[in-house]
Amino acid sequence: MEAMIDKYFRPGRLPHIWCPGCGNGVVTGTIVKAVAKLDLDKDKVAVISGIGCSSRASGYLDFNTVHSAHGRALPVATGVKLADPGLTVIVVTGDGDATAIGGNHLIHAARRNIDMTVVLYNNSIYGMTGGQYSPLTPTGSKATTAPYATIEQDFNVAELVKAAGATFVARGTTFHAQILADLIAKGIEHKGFSLIEAVTACPISYGRQNKMGGPADMMKWQRDHAVPLAAWDKMTEEQKAGKFPIGVLYQVEGRQEYTAAYDELIARAQGGK
Ligand code: SF4
Repeated sequence: MEAMIDKYFRPGRLPHIWCPGCGNGVVTGTIVKAVAKLDLDKDKVAVISGIGCSSRASGYLDFNTVHSAHGRALPVATGVKLADPGLTVIVVTGDGDATAIGGNHLIHAARRNIDMTVVLYNNSIYGMTGGQYSPLTPTGSKATTAPYATIEQDFNVAELVKAAGATFVARGTTFHAQILADLIAKGIEHKGFSLIEAVTACPISYGRQNKMGGPADMMKWQRDHAVPLAAWDKMTEEQKAGKFPIGVLYQVEGRQEYTAAYDELIARAQGGK
C-alpha cells in the first residue's frame, strides 16, 4: 500500500481533510487500485472533480487533474476528452455535485456517450457544506434542511443515467471495496460513458443526523443492504424492499462514442460532405 501511495498520491498535499471514518478515502483508494490493475500510464490519466468533500480527491492524486467548479466537472472533462481523446478521463463527483447543480451536465454527458468514467461518491448528503439534503438523500431521511425528514423522492441515479444514454452503469459500496475497484476498472475499460455509483458513508453530516451509529456501523449497514446482482434477480419484491443491487447493472456495446463521432464529423466537413 505504501508503494501505491508513493506512486499515485501527491505527498505534499497530504494529510487529507476528510473526517475520521469518512468513506471518501476508501473510494479514492479503489480508483487508484483500478488504475494500477489496468497498468495505465499516469501521464495518460486525467482526473476531473467538481466541488465537495469527495471532489478534494483530485488534489491528492498524482495524475493530470482539475479541481473545477461546483457541478461542472463533466463539462470540463468533456473539453479535456475532446482535446485529447487518448486520455483516460475519470470524473470524481459527489451526489450533490453530480445530480443537483451538475444534474443537467450529467444527463447530457450520458446522452452523448462520451468515453469517460464517472465515479459518483454517494454519501446521501452535502457533507462539506453542513448536511443539506441532496437529490440522492433517501426519502424520509433527516438533514439540516429537512429537520422533520425529506419528503422528496430521491433519484435512482443508475436508472437516471441509463435512461439518459449511459452505456455502462454499475454500483458498489465501500464495504465491498475490492468489488468496487473491479467495477471501476471495468468502467474505465468500457468505451463510452460509464458511471459507477460508490455507496459510501458520511458519518458526520448524514450518519449523525440519521442515528446510523459510527463509521463501522455505517459500513455494516452497507454489508446488510447491498445485494450482488445475481442474488438480487432471484429476490421477490418484498425481499428487495429497502435493499439495493450491486455489480454491473447495465452494459451495452456498439453505440457510437462521442469523440469518435466528432472525428468523423471533422473528416466529413474537411471533405466538404
Ligand atoms: Fe466525509 Fe462527511 Fe466529513 Fe465530508 S463531512 S469529510 S463526507 S465524513
